[in-house]
Amino acid sequence: MVHLVEENLTTVRKQMELACQAVGRQKEEVKLLLATKTVPLEKLNIAMEAGEMLFGENKAQELRDKFPLMEQHNQVEWHFIGHLQTNKVKYVVKYVTLIHSVDRLKLGQALHNQLVKENKTMDILVQVNTSRETSKFGISPELALELVEQLSQFETLNIKGLMTIGKLNATNNETRHCFQLLKQLQTQIRAKEIPRVEMDILSMGMSGDFTVAIEEGATIIRVGTKVFGQRYLPDEYYWNENKLHDD
Ligand SMILES: *Cc1c(COP(=O)(O)O)cnc(C)c1O
Repeated sequence: MVHLVEENLTTVRKQMELACQAVGRQKEEVKLLLATKTVPLEKLNIAMEAGEMLFGENKAQELRDKFPLMEQHNQVEWHFIGHLQTNKVKYVVKYVTLIHSVDRLKLGQALHNQLVKENKTMDILVQVNTSRETSKFGISPELALELVEQLSQFETLNIKGLMTIGKLNATNNETRHCFQLLKQLQTQIRAKEIPRVEMDILSMGMSGDFTVAIEEGATIIRVGTKVFGQRYLPDEYYWNENKLHDD
């Protein structure tokens, strides 16, 4: 029997392909990352059996719990996509190959300190708050270039591109505007030719808006609900943490 997760994956892959076709992109240009917050291991295993190898977690704790159980699938790659507190940095750098959510200098410094200790480097994206919603993390678009310049001073961090969460429950046009803004920032930052800064990755698009994101140039889309089904916890739990506790 075909599991629902497999069926959903088939649908999402088809939609990705159609969105690429619509704007003349190759389907190989866009990677599907599965957002796994709150998703039980059983479902993750089904996705892996179906050939999916790229997963993203939002919380250091969940990553730590899930990672050892997934080690048998050695081609699996984990990214970190959630808000990252500086005191959780050491757990995250241990497990992931790309952090999508670097949005402040202090976090860059904390990552750098940990990476120096471990004699490692890390690929990162700078998260931009393109929708300007206060409930979401990310650097404001006006300050993105400056942050990239500052972060580029840390030789342990390889800046690979930008990430954003499009405006939610919005019209297609409003969401599209967020993605266009991220693309514009990519172009602007690229033009500065900052040493050691690459701008090839645009991580944008989720269950409700990934086809729009692909049309606007996404190279990684992050999909959860549309593959795994509804989550138990509301997204505010992940996106609306008390900023007072945020260092
Ligand atoms: C949960 C989450 C996603 C996936 O959201 P869905 O709407 O379930 O596809 C993508 N990106 C981030 C940062 C998330 O926290």
